[in-house]
Amino acid sequence: MQAHSIAIIGAGFSGTLLSLQLLRHCSPNTRISLIEQAPSFGPGLAYSTGCPEHRLNVPAGKMSAFPDRPNDFLEFLGRQPASALGGLIPDAGSFVPRQLYGRYLRSL
Ligand SMILES: Cc1cc2nc3c(=O)[nH]c(=O)nc-3n(C[C@H](O)[C@H](O)[C@H](O)COP(=O)(O)OP(=O)(O)OC[C@H]3O[C@@H](n4cnc5c(N)ncnc54)[C@H](O)[C@@H]3O)c2cc1C
Repeated sequence: MQAHSIAIIGAGFSGTLLSLQLLRHCSPNTRISLIEQAPSFGPGLAYSTGCPEHRLNVPAGKMSAFPDRPNDFLEFLGRQPASALGGLIPDAGSFVPRQLYGRYLRSL
């Protein structure tokens, strides 16, 4: 089987999700290099905020990273300690802090 090498520059939202989809769908001998200038993969510009008042503008039920697992982000939120949720009990319609989405992307 032919080996492929793919480099993705920028591990914000798009680069991180593209890497995950390639890992799921490419052959095992595909090499994927994810290159990021910031200290961590995932949050990028939009989800690096440390301010809990900065909310997502899309409800949590529509923010899963995986089209075939639409509750993935909600399930991630359900695994967070109460202290991380700042008193929120999120459901599919909640507009949660953007920093929680950054944490989700980092975890992926
Ligand atoms: C303030 C703000 C709030 C937003 N809120 C929402 C929201 O609530 N819901 C929503 O759906 N969308 C929101 N968006 C839109 C959001 O930006 C996009 O959904 C998505 O995050 C864009 O992803 P991206 O990968 O293109 O950019 P980014 O996530 O910013 O990723 C780009 C990455 O590339 C890296 N990079 C750049 N140049 C280089 C280089 N030369 N070498 C290595 N790495 C490099 C950067 O460090 C960064 O990590 C928001 C956008 C902004 C700006």
